[in-house]
Amino acid sequence: MHAYLRYALERQEEIAALIQRLVEAESPTDSPESVDHVMDLLIEVNRDLAQSEVVPSPRFGKHLKLTFGGSGKSQSRQLLAIGHADTVWPLGTLRQMPFRKEEGRLWGPGVLDMKSGLVIFLYAMRLLREMKIAVNCPVVLLVVSDEEVGSPDSRPLTEAEGRKSRAAFILEPGTGLSGKLKTARKGVGRYLIRVEGVAAHAGVDFQAGASAIVEAAHQIQEVAKLSDRALGVTVNPGVVRGGTRSNVVAASAEIEVDVRAVTESDARQVGERLSKLQALDPRCRISVEGGPNRPPMERNSKIAALFESAREVGREIGLELEESATGGGSDGNFTAALGIPTLDGLGAVGEGAHAVTESVLLERIPERIALLAGLISRASSEDVGGRFA
Ligand SMILES: [Zn+2]
Repeated sequence: MHAYLRYALERQEEIAALIQRLVEAESPTDSPESVDHVMDLLIEVNRDLAQSEVVPSPRFGKHLKLTFGGSGKSQSRQLLAIGHADTVWPLGTLRQMPFRKEEGRLWGPGVLDMKSGLVIFLYAMRLLREMKIAVNCPVVLLVVSDEEVGSPDSRPLTEAEGRKSRAAFILEPGTGLSGKLKTARKGVGRYLIRVEGVAAHAGVDFQAGASAIVEAAHQIQEVAKLSDRALGVTVNPGVVRGGTRSNVVAASAEIEVDVRAVTESDARQVGERLSKLQALDPRCRISVEGGPNRPPMERNSKIAALFESAREVGREIGLELEESATGGGSDGNFTAALGIPTLDGLGAVGEGAHAVTESVLLERIPERIALLAGLISRASSEDVGGRFA
């Protein structure tokens, strides 16, 4: 057995115990104090390994930057790992969904997305230090507090750290129970279409009204037509609101639309089409707000090269790694869009993110630690993503 795997296997109990501590510290995005508490735990357990720097946020919990090694001596550009401490689960979820160790899995809110991913990274760094494996550049772990709401506050921080980095490793879960790595993610856009009509009494003065709801119904059909299955473009009118009472011709309506696209140009094209929507009823007015939220993570040659390095490291450990593409966004979208070689899905293997079945496979944790350790060691001395070629 590979020495890295043995290292992680021998520590399975303490690794599970740390995951339990993090899961039992509930941390929904909208509870800054709770997210802060998780950050404090991360600082505490890494006191002997990393320098910590807290970045306050005006709306969310604080962000955390942990720097491992490279204290002044190293001239090399850093490696970046990105995770998040927030979850989608409200405070009190633990009462219905307590942390459990059952059926070879760990269960609980946020266990897969992504508290286990954070622990996997931390043990990879511990392994590298305790086994005295060379890491020839600083390694930074950025843990943000607002990922589950689209990272509105942390995005500049992620981009600034990304620009300083030779490669970015994203600690989101792998795809499916095989735990495929992620080399492509769709970009995400959010739009709000407002329709203004003319209100009127539905009984007395019906003809004087121009229904915003009827107009919105037409626009929903137009918006839905922008989806293109072959290109992987999806346009989802996900929320509709409008009107006041059934006996009033509706004066206003609005439609929230989620747009996903594989390429930047497809995303832009959908945005342009949405901005040109025309009212069918000339008495109605249409306005469109919003835009891209996360750019696509396009599988370019740098990402392919980084995945190839991961595969080679995987083979040394005895793993046959596969890659996948997903429609969901992550903070890897930001670093990839800046041209930084980015590999995503390096966190835990499991299923049920954002669902009551959220769980991770215990037996797959050691290999993820070994993989990340090998990848970090290799990427610290080689130009693994071809960034500087
Ligand atoms: Zn996540």
